[in-house]
Amino acid sequence: MELQHLRRLARMPYMPKGLLATLPKPNWPPEISTLYLLMCTKEKATVEEVIELIKPTSPFQPNPKIPGHVPPEPQISVVPVPLHMPTSTEEAEEWSEKYWPTVYKRGNPFGPHPSIVETAEANLTKAREYIQMARDAGRQAEQNGVGLPFGAVMVNPTSGKVIAVAGDARHWDNQREWPNPLDHCAMRLVSMVAQKRLDKETKNEIVSPENPLRALTPLEEKYIMGPDNTQAGPTEGITADDVGSYLCHNLHVYLSHEPCTMCAMALLHSRVGAVIFEHRMGKTGALTADGFEQRDGVGHGLFWRPDLNWKFLCWEWKDRGVTPKDPLFDKVAA
Ligand SMILES: [Zn+2]
Repeated sequence: MELQHLRRLARMPYMPKGLLATLPKPNWPPEISTLYLLMCTKEKATVEEVIELIKPTSPFQPNPKIPGHVPPEPQISVVPVPLHMPTSTEEAEEWSEKYWPTVYKRGNPFGPHPSIVETAEANLTKAREYIQMARDAGRQAEQNGVGLPFGAVMVNPTSGKVIAVAGDARHWDNQREWPNPLDHCAMRLVSMVAQKRLDKETKNEIVSPENPLRALTPLEEKYIMGPDNTQAGPTEGITADDVGSYLCHNLHVYLSHEPCTMCAMALLHSRVGAVIFEHRMGKTGALTADGFEQRDGVGHGLFWRPDLNWKFLCWEWKDRGVTPKDPLFDKVAA
């Protein structure tokens, strides 16, 4: 994860002129192009260790297709690079000219502006209702024997309408010979939004006759769109006109639990605007920030990290006592 603000690979034209002057000249013919690869900080490995690591790779091995081919020797140098992220485009450009090709990622390293958080919090007026719905989705999944008691709800924050509800389904075999351990509720939730959008955009054509996104509980049934588009549940807020090419742009997700790394990344990639979860997941929750004093979760902080290309707001719903945390929540990923 280190040095994410520096390009890993750089071609010669993008390398700082001053730096190039200090590096050894390539020891291969000029028709072979040169690629500069940033390996790691010097505390991580010695030059000898790096050479040992990359020597067996193909550019440095004889090419059996070329008779008499003599492979080049890897050339390793230790160079100064900026350890911290640049704080502006100008700084990134300056460092790119001076040290190493540097990328500036927009975003406040101190988190979202308090006014953004305040406005978003003011819109969470029905959080209790949605969290209850997520709990119910999980309970129904468990009762129907399709999964563990985890549930998730996708909400359009503008209209306040629920777009989809999903429970965990890792025990459901979906007419295959084995259940899918990756059928976590957040994954199914994003898939339901995708299916709804597809159904709407293809105007009722049955796109996937073996659609695995069958509703498995009454609550899921209520919000999944049927093949004739009548069972509905709202679709505003999820069409391409509303959200562009991303599936869940700025939608809100309510969960019975802190999502695992897989689910947190799925939510991030689909560009959700906010996640509100009830229970922290002791060993597997991927949203909890590292350095949190109780060391809950895996500490990836997958909603705020400066090196992510999307960020969303995240709240832990503190309404404990209504549903005491099931000990299961500290044992599994969900
Ligand atoms: Zn998960």
